[in-house]
Amino acid sequence: MLNLLRQNIRNLVPYSTARDDYQGPKPDAYLDANENPFDTDFNRYPDPRQRSLKALIAERKGVSSSQIFIGNGSDEAIDLMYRLFCEPGQDNAIAIAPTYGMYQVAAEINDVEYRKVPLVCKDGSPFQLDVQALLATADEHSKLMWICSPNNPTGNAFPAADIEQLLQGFHGIVVLDEAYADFSSSSSWLTRLDEFPNLVILQTFSKAWGLAGLRCGLAFASRDICSYMDRVKYPYNINTITQSLVLQQLTEMADACFSHLQTLLSERQRLADELPYCSCVKKIYPSDANFLLVEVDDPKLRYQQLLAHGIIVRDRSSVCPGCLRITIGTPEQNNSVIATLK
Ligand SMILES: *Cc1c(COP(=O)(O)O)cnc(C)c1O
Repeated sequence: MLNLLRQNIRNLVPYSTARDDYQGPKPDAYLDANENPFDTDFNRYPDPRQRSLKALIAERKGVSSSQIFIGNGSDEAIDLMYRLFCEPGQDNAIAIAPTYGMYQVAAEINDVEYRKVPLVCKDGSPFQLDVQALLATADEHSKLMWICSPNNPTGNAFPAADIEQLLQGFHGIVVLDEAYADFSSSSSWLTRLDEFPNLVILQTFSKAWGLAGLRCGLAFASRDICSYMDRVKYPYNINTITQSLVLQQLTEMADACFSHLQTLLSERQRLADELPYCSCVKKIYPSDANFLLVEVDDPKLRYQQLLAHGIIVRDRSSVCPGCLRITIGTPEQNNSVIATLK
């Protein structure tokens, strides 16, 4: 897989922080990083390697610390994939469509061609992977393939057999974005990470863990890929507050988080059961995520009407004809959505 890296990245001598250089026992005085010595709680730089947080995530997820990259949101990991693997103006990335918009924006920022392969209806199931078309779109400059499962905005998880065919057939990196995996009955690919050296899995604390404001996203990959991601990232990409609060939430809030997750899953079912009784609703797509893709008679009108009642949803009609994407809210918020649409 390292042959896929850009030459400049392979040759890079990474920035070495003061705390990287010194590894001995705790000293009496840290005078190595030009920090202010007077305590403000935040006068010290954060751990650039995020050792404590990685150790806990490794234990919880059953992987080694060396197979974890922690980013300033998944967005950082998405951007890094291009910077590591894609030569601007030369290489390309392949993605399903419709999907999460950041893959394309990051491609454009990095001057990387972005090839879209539409999802297809298979055996009556909408929004499925066209495995043959995805593989046929690849050429010798195809370095990345983006698969979001469960997919945003369609909401469905893709069959493991299809994803496995892509991992085996594509001679580049397959990035599997599992931002919504906690809401899905399909299992995460984390248990199979060691089988596929070209697999990069993205997860995030922004959705099921309810920590979007802290900006903390994860990538799981081979030790080699993670080590290059660490070399290219900003040295102090995860600030002190984020590192300590995510650690604390993982240990103290797991039960509360699980109970909120159960509520969201039962609310998703309730919305899916009740929304069809609204005359403006034409179709509810099955969801493995914390949102529903809802086809309505007039998406622009229904969007404005919900807005007038203080409810913002996402108009996705430009990528999914007729569709609004509605995030599952609290039971009270969901009641308002149902009442307003009725
Ligand atoms: C919400 C979301 C994320 C999370 O992004 P963060 O930068 O970690 O907040 C990642 N991927 C997809 C597909 C998403 O919808």
